[in-house]
Amino acid sequence: MLSEWNFDNSYLELPQIFFSKTKPNKFNDLKIILQNEKLVEKLSINKSEFNDLLLKSITNNNNNCFSQAYAGHQFGHFTILGDGRATLLGEHINRENKRFDIQLKGSGKTPYSRNGDGKGTLKSMLREYIVSEAMHNLNIKTTRSLAVLKTGEKIIRNGFEEGGILVRVAKSHIRVGTFQLAALSEESDNIEALVNYSIKRLQPEIYDHKDRYLEFYKTIVENQINLIIEWQRVGFIHGVMNTDNMALSGETIDYGPCAFLDEYNPKKVFSSIDQNGRYAFNNQPKIALWNLARFAETILHLIDKDQSLAIKKIEDVLKSFEKKYHERWLEMMKNKLQINNHTENDGKLITELLDLMHVFKLDFTNTFIEIDNDQISKYEFMKNWISKFEDRKKINKKFDKIKYKYNPRIIPRNHLVEKVLNESENGNYSLLIKFIENLNDPYSNDIISDFQKGPTEDEKVHQTFCGT
Ligand code: AMP
Ligand code: MG
Repeated sequence: MLSEWNFDNSYLELPQIFFSKTKPNKFNDLKIILQNEKLVEKLSINKSEFNDLLLKSITNNNNNCFSQAYAGHQFGHFTILGDGRATLLGEHINRENKRFDIQLKGSGKTPYSRNGDGKGTLKSMLREYIVSEAMHNLNIKTTRSLAVLKTGEKIIRNGFEEGGILVRVAKSHIRVGTFQLAALSEESDNIEALVNYSIKRLQPEIYDHKDRYLEFYKTIVENQINLIIEWQRVGFIHGVMNTDNMALSGETIDYGPCAFLDEYNPKKVFSSIDQNGRYAFNNQPKIALWNLARFAETILHLIDKDQSLAIKKIEDVLKSFEKKYHERWLEMMKNKLQINNHTENDGKLITELLDLMHVFKLDFTNTFIEIDNDQISKYEFMKNWISKFEDRKKINKKFDKIKYKYNPRIIPRNHLVEKVLNESENGNYSLLIKFIENLNDPYSNDIISDFQKGPTEDEKVHQTFCGT
């Protein structure tokens, strides 16, 4: 096990436009509030030395920290962005030779901070820790959270709030927005450097492919289809699917105003800034496709020298998105209902269920648990649907019931996240710890039942904020 980081900052070999050397602020009273032991282990870092290592690397950081530059479409509008409140400590390589970005989020101003203070509230950093680790344990690709620190500073948001830093771990932080920045540059070498770097880093196995740029694009599209299907499986609403928040690694990134569905509503939006419902639950696949089209525009000239041929090749990939998405979505929903085999009416059966759940305001997560546990007949209005469902199950091929793999027993519900965060802000972390423990094993049947219940009318959280 290592007692030091094993940094190798390959990103710094890219052209200068992609980053700026930065340093985290000095904080006088840093305290580690949460640390992720399993992840520490995965990084091959010695657990007993991790605390010291982390504090030391924030206060006596070396000269190799940097922030990344990028652009992006935010709610459809193009802007120049960059890590306004994040500093990458370095790319750590673990014992298995895997590379991880180790990033501080909320560590102070950078050249990309615009009017922001570069800071984050302790509450929003804890929120990202809770939700990103919950996603990981639900088996969904995501950036991870290694630790949360309290900075000891008060920062100005809604009045004064406790400041916090999240230590985020990602396969890489390259986003669609990184390519959009490169595409602005007059130097066509920049985009080539970035795409070749990204392939080497994310898909080295296709580097020697004769059509490597198209192959790369296809894999990115595949990864995004699979990711969005997984979000739909657990009722996750990302909330800010801007192109700068779509990582090419296929990991879910940036847990700002995200939230999970309680009652099923396909048009559900939580984010206070998403007034037109652009990033509503059911819009997520369409937006992923839109973002992927923006990505394609940046590498079109590399796909084929003949522009119309390049467009045709990309169009073919994008056209297959809808069909593949629909097929995989159906498969995923069938898995949730534990039906296999195929009948013409499977899609209809699922749509009818979702319509009933919507009209009768059923809880998304708990309804699937009730179906798993044969408890759904308690709803009179489900009778008709149940009889169709029972008939459908008769044609299932024999299979081993892998119960609970698709239907989580616990999700980080908004009202609970809020409750836990409020207690943590007052210095009481016991509920936070208990909540995280339960979220660590979301398919287990031993979940504290209070964590499974949907919110009462009073407890409902109607809006989430970016919480920056
Ligand atoms: P996000 O919505 O978290 O993806 O952030 C969008 C952009 O705003 C990114 O470029 C962030 O780095 C930047 N940003 C968010 N919060 C702050 C902050 N407190 N100070 C400076 N920049 C920020
Ligand atoms: Mg972002």
